[in-house]
Amino acid sequence: MQERLRLIDAVRQAVCEHRDELTRLDQAIGDGDHGESMQRGFDALFAEREKIAGLALCEGLVAAGRTLVMTMGGASGPLYGTFLMELGKTLPEDPDRAALAAAFRHATERVGARGRSQPGQKTLLDVLHPVADALADGVPAAEIARIADDAARATVPMLATKGRAAFLGERSIGHMDPGARSAALVIGAVCSALQGDRR
Ligand code: ADP
Ligand code: MG
Repeated sequence: MQERLRLIDAVRQAVCEHRDELTRLDQAIGDGDHGESMQRGFDALFAEREKIAGLALCEGLVAAGRTLVMTMGGASGPLYGTFLMELGKTLPEDPDRAALAAAFRHATERVGARGRSQPGQKTLLDVLHPVADALADGVPAAEIARIADDAARATVPMLATKGRAAFLGERSIGHMDPGARSAALVIGAVCSALQGDRR
C-alpha cells in the first residue's frame, strides 16, 4: 500500500516537473496540449491514490487506467489508459520479474493495436518496445530508466507517420516525440521509486 502510494506520488511529481517541457515538445510537432493532459491525468490519479492503492493490484491498475482515459483525453489518454488496464488484466497479484516482463509486453502490444501503430513511427511505442525488450532480458531498473531516456531521444531524427505529428511530414524530423518523452519520464519515475524502496 505504502509502496503504491509512493509510486503514484513519484510519477505525478515527475509529470508535474516536466509539464512545460512536454508542452513545448507538443507545440513543436502537435497541438501543445500534452503537458496539460498528462498533468490533468496524473493529478486525477493522485486524487484517487488512497482508493487505488487499497485495491488488489489488478483492480487498482484497471481503475488507474480508467481514470487516465476519463481525464486526459487526446490521443495519448486512451493509449496510457489501455496500457494500465491491460497491465492490470495480465499481472498476477504479486508479480515476479518474468510476470512483469510478460505483462509489460502484452500491454505494449495492446497499445499498438489500439493506436493501429508500430515502433518506428515516432510515438510512445518507440519507448515502450525497447523497455519491454529490456525487461524480457532481465535488465536492472536503473538501466531501464536510461534505456527509456535513450529511446525517447532516438525519436528526434524519426519521421512521424502516426498521430498529429504525421501531418507535418518531414518537418516532424528534428524534434523529440512528446509521448515518447512522457513515457520515458513515467518509466524513469517508476524505476527510481522502486529502487528507493529497496534501499
Ligand atoms: P493529441 O495528439 O490528441 O493532442 P497528445 O498531445 O496528448 O494527443 O499526445 C500525443 C502523443 O500521443 C504523441 O506524441 C504520440 O507519442 C502519441 N500518439 C498519438 N497517436 C498515436 C498512435 N496512433 N499510436 C501510438 N501513439 C500515438
Ligand atoms: Mg497534443
